[in-house]
Parts: sequence; structure tokens; C-alpha cells
Amino acid sequence: MNWLTDAHIHLSDGEFKPEMPFILTAMNKMRIKACCVSMDYSSSNATLHLSKQCTLVLPFLGIHPEKANDDLESIVNLIMENSNKISGIGEIGLDKTYVSDEAGFNRQISVFEQMLSLAEKLEKPISVHSRRTLEEIFSILPSYRLRGVLLHWFAGNKKQLQKAMDIGSYVSYGPAMVYSQDKQILLSQTESSKILLETDGPVKYSKCFGYKTAQITFMPSVLFRASEILGKRYDELLEIIEKNTNSYLGI
Ligand SMILES: [Zn+2]
Repeated sequence: MNWLTDAHIHLSDGEFKPEMPFILTAMNKMRIKACCVSMDYSSSNATLHLSKQCTLVLPFLGIHPEKANDDLESIVNLIMENSNKISGIGEIGLDKTYVSDEAGFNRQISVFEQMLSLAEKLEKPISVHSRRTLEEIFSILPSYRLRGVLLHWFAGNKKQLQKAMDIGSYVSYGPAMVYSQDKQILLSQTESSKILLETDGPVKYSKCFGYKTAQITFMPSVLFRASEILGKRYDELLEIIEKNTNSYLGI
């Protein structure tokens, strides 16, 4: 039996808390693991705590671009102290929608670069937020020797997808790919060895998902739709995704 992994989900988000015992039971029964990403110091702590409760939760610590003003030193220390317990660094990246001026964006870049240095030093994979900042990210990444790079919720154009493949990064698709033709076209043009799947819960998706909070239990639907788009059997794609996930995580 294979394991399916949600490559990017915020299980430490407060929205999931009341249902956590059910979520963990479902993960166990459905054979689904989670790359659990963090937003800031407090959610990094929550992620660590969750990973101690359940080995199916693979902890990623870091600072999201929305939280670039959080206490960087505390997060760096937390990552260093727990370097043998964490699976990766994330969610990190750049996003201009969260800043009002150039100084704010420069702060994001500085935080992102420090997270990349840490990932390089600790030889950990990274989970990257790249909304409308792929060009900036493509110019920064080559300066670092990184183990595994995931451009999560990939939303670039075909040329940027090619660039992502050229630099050896993984890209992930989630519930939006179930109904969005743009995402389905991108998926069909992605090298099969670089595809990962995710939910980015607790994000809410429209169309067939009716704006309900994304649950990790959406994963089989995401995999099913991806297998249809790629013309593969469900279990065939599951095996490919498991292999890709392991090589991304370096396990
Ligand atoms: Zn996210």
C-alpha cells in the first residue's frame, strides 16, 4: 500500500483545532501524510507540537511573507534547536500583496534569504509561496544549494513552468486544479517526476468545493482528477506522487 502526502497544508491553523482528533484518525485510516507548513513563530511551535502527537505530520517551520515582520531571531533559533526533528523549512517566499512599499518588500526578501541560508545549511527542503513573484524568486534561488524546492500552488505561465523544471524544482497543484482548466493545462505540461499534490488547507475553494474549508481528506479527489488529466490510473499516479514526495523530502 502506498502513502499519499499532502505537500502543503496548514494543519497548525486554529481552524483545524476542534477537529484534530478526527483529522489524525482519518489520515491514519486513509494513509495520508502531511507536510505541515507554518506561518510564523507561534504556528511553528504549534506545528512542532502537532508533529510530536502524530508521526504522519511532517513539520515545516518558517516565516510566511505575510508575517515578514515577525521575530526572525526566535524562529531561526527554534529551527536550529529542532533541526533534527523538522522535515523542512516553510512556508517561505515573497508576495507584494502583503506590503505597501519597497521597504516592506525588501524586508520580505531579507527574511526569505535568511530562511534559504538556513535551509542550505541544514540541508532541508523548502516550501515556497511565489504569488506573482516567480521572477524575483527565480533570480534568488540559484545563489543557494538547496536540497528540494517546492513552488507550491504553482500559478505561473508556461514559460515560468519550463523555468521551474529547468532549475529542478517541484511544483504542486491542489483543489483548484479539480475545476480550473488553466491549472489542468499546466499540470499536463509538468514533468511527471516534478509533480506534487496539496490542499493548502484551510484555504476555501469555490466551484464544486462550495467555499468549504479545504480538508486533507480532499487529497484523493485531487489525485483522482490529476490522474484523469494525465491519462494515468489512480494507483499508477499515486505511486509516482509517493516517489516524487520522497525525493523532495530527501527520504
Ligand atoms: Zn500555504
